[in-house]
Order: sequence, then structure tokens, then C-alpha cells
Amino acid sequence: MTTSTPVTAPRPEPDAGHRAPRLAVWKFSSCDGCQLTLLDAEDELLPLAGRVEIAYFLEASRHQEPGPYDLSLVEGSIATPEDEERIRRVRADSRYLVVIGACATAGGIQALRNLADVKEYARTVYARPDYIRTLDRSRPVSDYVPVDFELRGCPIDKGQLLEVVCAFLAGRRPDIPDQSVCFACKARGTVCVTTAHGIPCLGPVTHAGCGAICPAYGRGCYGCFGPVTGARTDALLPLLRRDGLGEREIVRFYRTFNAEAPAFAAAARRAGGQDEAGERDRAGERDRAGEEDSASEHEESEGEGGAA
Ligand code: SF4
Ligand code: SF4
Repeated sequence: MTTSTPVTAPRPEPDAGHRAPRLAVWKFSSCDGCQLTLLDAEDELLPLAGRVEIAYFLEASRHQEPGPYDLSLVEGSIATPEDEERIRRVRADSRYLVVIGACATAGGIQALRNLADVKEYARTVYARPDYIRTLDRSRPVSDYVPVDFELRGCPIDKGQLLEVVCAFLAGRRPDIPDQSVCFACKARGTVCVTTAHGIPCLGPVTHAGCGAICPAYGRGCYGCFGPVTGARTDALLPLLRRDGLGEREIVRFYRTFNAEAPAFAAAARRAGGQDEAGERDRAGERDRAGEEDSASEHEESEGEGGAA
């Protein structure tokens, strides 16, 4: 997985001035929240719509134009065989590919199933789990194709999204500071909830973008923007313990929207999650072995019955 800095620098527009850049917005495995953030940019969307040709955006219009596209915004993780095939086509059709949100950058909430038995989840949730075709893991887009920029958040921030779109259309690097939520607290003059009130907070290790909303309302950050580059999760661990979190709670703290982001996944393992996940895997294996044993006993007894 990549960081929130551009993987490749913007390339020059080959035919600037001759036609409006073509924008496409794609949904993969996700809840649509990041696409809605774009639609929520009502005041800014109208001038933007005048500068680009919105060629493909099913959330906003039934009108669909074939590629190639100058800028593709991709929401959602790669979680099904169809997702995997389609993201390769989208990449081939797109000059710039920007992934938006926790699903696309870190596998999203659906990546929690990477820590469990996906077949068991399907059996629990769906009346006909045999209709469900899914990959073993929910993964970020960058695990499959090169991406030009990753924008964090669950959902993303409207201002950051507009900055990324405008930067790519102008052929410059997006100005998205790779800073922690703590920087945003200082910038808005919010008193630190950890220092002042002993409230557990993932702000020191979480990427900024939300404007430090949670600490501003007196609660700790729970990491929905994912890890900042160089997140010092080991240094934060004693503070989380001091402020009353046990091993299990720390693991849950890191395993929310960005559970598979490498820094948060490693932090959860260090805090004790490895044993917990391992125990679940072992329990799953025992269940499956038990099912196979009882199935073969059933077949044997049917065979005996048939012979009698
Ligand atoms: S409240 Fe949280 S994010 Fe804000 S300065 Fe304190 S630790 Fe950092
Ligand atoms: S959880 Fe953290 S990153 Fe998410 S909105 Fe709250 S302060 Fe911002």
C-alpha cells in the first residue's frame, strides 16, 4: 500500500486548451459516502462542472461516455473478482487515477473480514450465501494497479477533494499536507483532550484532513483518516494504556475504518491483536474440520444405508 503522497507526479496535459478534461467517478466495494462528498460540494461543483466534461458518474447521472478519461476518481476497495477485473480496465482508460477514501486506500471497513473467516460472515449475513462471490481479502486499489494519488478519510473531506481535482486539472501537485490531527488541533486552537482530560486519542498517529472535529467537541480521534506517514504508534501505546484502555480496547481502536492500513494493522498486532486473530483462525479451522468430519460421517452412513 502507498502513502498519501503522490505515487507519480502529475504529467503535463497533452492537449490543454483544445478540449475540456474528461472526469470519471467510479464505485467499487463501498458505501458511496465519498462520492456523496463530491455531490455535497454543491457551491463548488457548478464552476467545476463548467471546466470539465463529466463523462462517467453513475451516482449523479445515467449518461455514460466511453473512455479514455483524463482523471478518474475511484471509491471503494477491491473485494470481488469483478472488482479486480474492472479496476484494471479503469486504470488502462485513465490518464490520472486518484483513489478516494478509506476503502480505496486501505480496504475500508470491509477489510475487517480479512481478520476473520469471510465464509462465516456470508453465512451469518445472507440467506443464500452460495450466491456470494468474493475475494478472500478486501484490499486497497494500489495492491492491484498503480495510483497517482491517495486521498484519506471515511468519508473524505470536501475541501481536500476539490484541491486534488483542481490540482490535477491544473497539472500541479495537490497541496495536501501530510500532517497529523494534532497539527489541526493546534491550528484551530483546540485544547488537547489527552493532555488536558486524559481522553484516549489517535490524533498523534492519524492523517489530518477533517479539521480535528472530534477533539474540538471534546472526544478523542478514532483514526478515520488512517495513519499519517511515519505514525509513531509504539510511542502512543503507553499513553493509551495510561488513559485506561486495555489490550482488547486498543486493538478495537485501531481496527475500525482503516484496519488494514499497514501502520494501524501493525499497531493492533503489537497491542495483542495477533493472538486474538490467530485464535479466531484456529477456531475457524476447527469449525471447518468439524464440518468436514461430520459431512464425511454423513456420507459414510448414507453409503452404509444404501448398501443395506
Ligand atoms: S486532542 Fe488528540 S489530536 Fe488534538 S492535540 Fe491532543 S492528542 Fe493531538
Ligand atoms: S475520528 Fe479523527 S480523523 Fe476522523 S473526524 Fe474524528 S478527529 Fe477527524
